[in-house]
Amino acid sequence: MFPESIQNAIILYFKQQGEREVEIISASPVSGGSINDAFRIKTSLGQFFVKYNDASRYPEMFEKESRGLQLLRDSNSISIPDILTAGEAGSYAFLLLEFIEPAREADHFWQNFGKNLAAMHSHKAEKFGLDHDNYMGSLYQYNNFHDNWTEFFIVERLERQVKMAREDGSIGRVDITGFERLYKRLDEIFPSSEPSLIHGDLWSGNFMTDRQGNACLIDPAVYYGHPEIDIAMSTLFGGFNQKFYDAYNNHNPLEKGWEIRLDIYNLYPLMVHVNLFGGGYLGSVQKIVRKF
Ligand code: ADP
Repeated sequence: MFPESIQNAIILYFKQQGEREVEIISASPVSGGSINDAFRIKTSLGQFFVKYNDASRYPEMFEKESRGLQLLRDSNSISIPDILTAGEAGSYAFLLLEFIEPAREADHFWQNFGKNLAAMHSHKAEKFGLDHDNYMGSLYQYNNFHDNWTEFFIVERLERQVKMAREDGSIGRVDITGFERLYKRLDEIFPSSEPSLIHGDLWSGNFMTDRQGNACLIDPAVYYGHPEIDIAMSTLFGGFNQKFYDAYNNHNPLEKGWEIRLDIYNLYPLMVHVNLFGGGYLGSVQKIVRKF
């Protein structure tokens, strides 16, 4: 059931936007999410997408998601749903977005996706990180600023996940030693780069097809990082069409050796999975750590 308190909060939101009588006609569950409950609501103003959770469960998750989506939208490079509001209603927190109607992919879907993502990555910042922390899935993601990419990736990404896994006993001494050995090599493995605007969680469940038939990004874990992070994640659970990589490379040529680096970047989402879902993902982590 779609909570009444959220319905009322949505009606109030529209009133504050100057709409007079707004009626919620129906609400039907949307499947596919792993963290929150999601609904498609039909209203007298049209359809919208709402996801919600207990407000205390993941503090400020939707404000952060909304800020991340807004940053991606502001880059004017790739399709992102309209963001209406992130709010609270009773004990719930919710996010209200444009509803992306399932649509067919346009002829040049993958080429456009590659080109648009490259355009998004062309938005640069002075430092790696972001002016606020956010979430990667349901895990807190720290975005403290660093001048150096290798340092950022070790301190804000791997070390934090390794610490969490060590504290709850998912990994042991041998694994930690493997990570420490890897950290020492990262400077020579990673190319230098400018901080780029990245989605941060770009697996195949985090894009949809918009009305124009183009890829529309959802559910980001935004920060300014190395563009190869998004490329790496796109290969993690299935991989995107080759046309995507070709188009991306045409617009933002990946530096030599990028294929080799992808595994290292994917240690981060894999460790997030170890921390969320346990040991099943540890084998993949160990294999990568051993390789380097
Ligand atoms: P969670 O935060 O629980 O991971 P998601 O943001 O992944 O939730 O959304 C859950 C599902 O809802 C997605 O897999 C997608 O199918 C669908 N979805 C997400 N955003 C929209 C949207 N703006 N319009 C329509 N459907 C959406």
